[in-house]
Amino acid sequence: MIRVGDVKIGGDAPVSVQSMTNTKTEDREATITQINALEDAGCEIVRVAVPNKESAMMLGKIKSQINIPLIADIQFDYRLAVMAVKEGADGIRINPGNIGGKEKAAKIAKEVQNSGVSIRIGVNSGSLEKDILEKHGGPTPRALVESALKWVRFFEDANFYNMKLALKAPDVLTTIEAYRLAAKKIKYPFHLGVTEAGTIFPGLIKSSLGIGILLNEGIGDTIRVSLTADPVFEVRAGYEILKGLKLRSRGVDIISCPGCGRCEIDLIGIANEVEKRLAKIKKSIKVAVMGCIVNGPGEAKEADIGIAGGKKKGLLFKKGMVIRNLNEEEMVEVLVREVKGMVGED
Ligand code: SF4
Repeated sequence: MIRVGDVKIGGDAPVSVQSMTNTKTEDREATITQINALEDAGCEIVRVAVPNKESAMMLGKIKSQINIPLIADIQFDYRLAVMAVKEGADGIRINPGNIGGKEKAAKIAKEVQNSGVSIRIGVNSGSLEKDILEKHGGPTPRALVESALKWVRFFEDANFYNMKLALKAPDVLTTIEAYRLAAKKIKYPFHLGVTEAGTIFPGLIKSSLGIGILLNEGIGDTIRVSLTADPVFEVRAGYEILKGLKLRSRGVDIISCPGCGRCEIDLIGIANEVEKRLAKIKKSIKVAVMGCIVNGPGEAKEADIGIAGGKKKGLLFKKGMVIRNLNEEEMVEVLVREVKGMVGED
């Protein structure tokens, strides 16, 4: 087990949810605003890009105004990693394929030694070392693992052990295979993700497959769903994956049917509105929004609270009992109010 700030990763610790800002890190206000929104959504560790000196020098100020551990994402220039450590970053993500060789990595190792700062070795199929690419004929799972192993040994030789690993590729099967191979050889915690997974729709599916399959095999200690979208979606998606695998519980779990020719309420509109209005709830609660009486009463009874639709009206169930009849127009309002009352959150 390692620690990133006060968050434990690996061992018996729960799988944690990470995200990354897409603001200019040197824009303090925008970055802090986005991190606060991520915290609200349940993000437990946040990473920011550190592409230049200005962004590195901003880390201390950002850290002083947020409540979750801060990781500096470093590419190419080891000096930025050194600066980030001095600024108080809780973790450093380096990409060994572009940090400029072992001598420069040694300088990072020296800086982080005894600092409590953890390192993520983030091997990426897009920036593998040339010799490894040539040997394997491309960014294969074995190539990713060879690079990861090489850097694990390097940091161990420098007496540094506070590290976690990521082996990322945009291809789901390559990612899965790489982590499976790595899990047989590497004892450090794994950060899971399918890199460059795309916009919301394909990104969610690829990430759910890659991360979900691995977690279900017991591989992975912290996750980031990469999306070309507002990073708040990454956090929500992360929890949905963990909830689906029963690894964590947080927030509202909406159980809604797809609707069909039997449905006589605006099911899609109601379910989406309920989801939106309850997105900030932190406590775990099951809410059913069902289209008709076929499966509606059954599901609504199983949930903590739920609606089973009828003809422009519906039944409201709470803890398995029908508590009232609702007209379609009042369904969202009443359900939202009841849920907030049950969890004691606004
Ligand atoms: Fe159709 Fe009713 Fe089943 Fe929903 S619960 S899919 S409306 S039959």
